Amino acid sequence: MSEQRLALLELIDNIERLGQFQDRIDFPSNIREIWNAFLTDVQNLIEIDVCALFLVEEKSHEFLLKHVVPGDKGKLCRKEIELQIECGIFSWIINRRHPALVPALAFENVKSVVMLPLSTVKRTLGVVLILTPVQESFITHENLKLLTILTKECSLVMENTLLYERLRRKHISLEKANKEIKLLSRTDALTGCYNRGYLNEVFPREIKRALRYKHSLSLAMCDIDHFKKVNDTYGHQCGDEVLIKFVQSILELIRADADWLARYGGEEFLLVLPETQLENAKGLAERLRKHIANKVIETEEEKISITASFGVTGFDDANSHKEIITFDALINTADKYLYGAKKQGRNKVISGPFPA
Ligand code: GH3
Ligand code: MG
Ligand code: MG
Repeated sequence: MSEQRLALLELIDNIERLGQFQDRIDFPSNIREIWNAFLTDVQNLIEIDVCALFLVEEKSHEFLLKHVVPGDKGKLCRKEIELQIECGIFSWIINRRHPALVPALAFENVKSVVMLPLSTVKRTLGVVLILTPVQESFITHENLKLLTILTKECSLVMENTLLYERLRRKHISLEKANKEIKLLSRTDALTGCYNRGYLNEVFPREIKRALRYKHSLSLAMCDIDHFKKVNDTYGHQCGDEVLIKFVQSILELIRADADWLARYGGEEFLLVLPETQLENAKGLAERLRKHIANKVIETEEEKISITASFGVTGFDDANSHKEIITFDALINTADKYLYGAKKQGRNKVISGPFPA
């Protein structure tokens, strides 16, 4: 076979290999996968003692060793890189944008170092350092050219991957922030329980679900007794602390995964109890009432005892009054029973069926 024909076949072979490299590092990938694909092809082109990937750290702009083969050669590589950086060779190679072949500085035996700049038009990504037992003069111009093409391909995919990862991280933190904003918009700033907005949005849905699945649903309207007196006696700030502790006391006793509490206004709260029969709701309200009455609320300066009154209602059989079971009607009924509890002297639970 003529030399020309051999060269042509080799060229075709190399072009094919580059194509396969592109296939293997199909985007989106991760840096390690790209690096492994790159290594396989580099090993076909040049004999390797050590091959290391250094990437520029985004914040510090330093070169950091990301991957090295064999794995135990990291120390040696770092030493080599320190010496090369001292000589300013890394900046030089980045600016040059072409591979360089230089003698190794950190090795006793004569070895050559191939340095490949990983960069694109917009960005400097890092450097690939290859320590080879082959002497500089034996590394062919063609192989260096192929390494250059391979490195360019690798740089492009790495840049896309890094960009993609950065965007993904931003997306995740944005999603997290959105969730927090949503949570904040649903909660009461002082006590941390749900607010009126949440109540207006979710309670109608609870009612619909109960009607659709023929589940029971109960609610308890609770109001702190003589709360004005707390404020008048201990101050508004102290009153705020009492409200916070009052909510905590209730949240301690309800089912965290099903029941929920919303601040209806001032010192009045609505406890929603899905799939709870009226009798059980009444029992729970009684336990809450006792718990609150027996608790001494300790603020920074005072020890305060409070009581609360409860109006409880709900329906066990959703079908019987389907048409009149509405948000307003349920709340008004609970409010009516609460009014009865206040009238009967406070620190009381009054419950009754819906409709009253
Ligand atoms: P009742 O037993 O009849 O419910 O008497 P009450 O004093 O609790 O009821 P009233 O409606 O007369 O007073 C409610 C008080 O709750 C008055 C208001 O200043 C106070 N209040 C409402 N919201 C807050 C708050 O966020 N912080 C504090 N500290 N007080 C509040
Ligand atoms: Mg009150
Ligand atoms: Mg009130």
